[in-house]
Amino acid sequence: CDTPEKAASYLRSKGTPIYLQNYVSGAFILSDKTSVPFLDSFEPKTGAVFACVPCTQSQQVDAAIRTAKDAFPAWSKTTRAVRSGYLRRVSELLQESRELFAVWESIDQGKTLERARIEVDRAIANFLYFSTYILHEQTAARMIDGGGVLTYEHRSPAGVFALISPWNMPLYLLTWKIAPCLAFGCTAVAKPSEVTSMSAYLLAAIFHRASLPPGVINIVFGDGPTTGAALVSSPLITGVSFTGGTQTGIAIRRATAHQIGKHVSLELGGKNPTLVFADALRQDDKERTIRVAASAAFENQGEICLCGSRIYVEESVYEEFLTSFVKFVQDTYVLGKTVGAVVSRAHFDKVRGYLKLAEQEGATFELGGVPLELDGQANERGYWIAPTVLADVQPNSALLRDEIFGPVVTVSKFKDEEEAVGLANDSEFGLAAVLLTADGARMRRVGEQLEAGMVWVNGWLQRELGTPFGGMKASGTGREGGEYSRDVFTVVRTIHLPS
Ligand code: NAD
Repeated sequence: CDTPEKAASYLRSKGTPIYLQNYVSGAFILSDKTSVPFLDSFEPKTGAVFACVPCTQSQQVDAAIRTAKDAFPAWSKTTRAVRSGYLRRVSELLQESRELFAVWESIDQGKTLERARIEVDRAIANFLYFSTYILHEQTAARMIDGGGVLTYEHRSPAGVFALISPWNMPLYLLTWKIAPCLAFGCTAVAKPSEVTSMSAYLLAAIFHRASLPPGVINIVFGDGPTTGAALVSSPLITGVSFTGGTQTGIAIRRATAHQIGKHVSLELGGKNPTLVFADALRQDDKERTIRVAASAAFENQGEICLCGSRIYVEESVYEEFLTSFVKFVQDTYVLGKTVGAVVSRAHFDKVRGYLKLAEQEGATFELGGVPLELDGQANERGYWIAPTVLADVQPNSALLRDEIFGPVVTVSKFKDEEEAVGLANDSEFGLAAVLLTADGARMRRVGEQLEAGMVWVNGWLQRELGTPFGGMKASGTGREGGEYSRDVFTVVRTIHLPS
């Protein structure tokens, strides 16, 4: 089913939803429906149930963890070349099935097919990157010859990891964890979001075809309170690499607080600012400025943790920016074509709640604002929300504070650079920021003051996989990417030798 038409006809002809199966110890296991509840998975563009996801219970989670633990000694001792070979094979198989993954990711998440293709390509890149990283890495062991003792650092794979991902970029974010975890010699139990589990199920089949040794990578499905909580709190789990919401990050920290040695990497929510300085609207740069601000706001329906959902514009160009921005968004981000549906009924209701709040607070809807009303309590017509641009938002509004995580952006004014930095940093979050300016000195001056793990100047979302990725403040702890991922998945011991 590697075209939307074939997938739709498959689902129609089948008549029943697809029942997902856990992948444990190199085999697919159909959960017993009498003891394991199944969760409905909806197709956001239509509201129809297309899959059922087992909500794996703690006993089965424990069994998967034990499998990963049993596989660890042998896997951690394989050579880098062997691990690299497996990961390369996975990337090749993913490449061969690129279109199939894109089609099902788009069905499952609501994103456009075009966007899904970009993310499958990035998932392929994750495996390729870490397969080569481990071959070329030269960790210069720090040898210190002092006081008659020769000292060096020795790194080894840390152990068994829980890898947990959210629903917004399901395949991409899960592979961003699995690839380094396996590359650095760890084994894992991975759990995708219960809202978007399909691509992880397909990925398990790729691992199977790549003949990864049983138990090295296990994939279990289920919700957070049952499956996720059992996974992170297990004493057999050495570390957790988690991407998701800040409240869940807090719950995971709490659940693991007493397990002092557990590696916990948390990539959490954001409410990212985009700063537009007057010089960014000069003739040559204006088109790029508008395009970058719009894509940062509306790519993937605004469902990217890095999205710039608070735009601040220097007041001398505020009207000019707003007019051009609204026109560009209207022409470029078209519901059903370049903008998909939001992921779920619950998320649709959440975003709609913020639109109602905007109305109550007297914000100006420069564009959009009208979510499709659903028929009664049914999900029948899908979860569509038009790209929405809000102006005249009250300075202390929740619209500026909370992560809405949908196709909704606010546009506000600032007077000068100092105020711009203050407004940008006035957030509990600190994940990313976009700075739009033509002034080279300002790029550094402002860029280095922003409380954000990633700052993009005159661009957005360009990624080099070796750079540190992660947030400040409520957006997370720890960094991942290249050597930073190595720090998550390995342990260091210092060896002192007599000379
Ligand atoms: P979520 O926190 O609700 O769920 C994320 C994952 O955690 C899911 O797999 C869920 O089942 C699991 N989970 C929930 N409760 C758990 C618990 N108690 N123990 C263990 N696992 C648990 O997040 P979401 O709604 O799926 O995703 C949206 C959020 O993710 C947004 O806040 C977004 O900003 C964030 N996000 C962050 C990044 C980043 O890199 N910083 C990237 C993408 C998304």
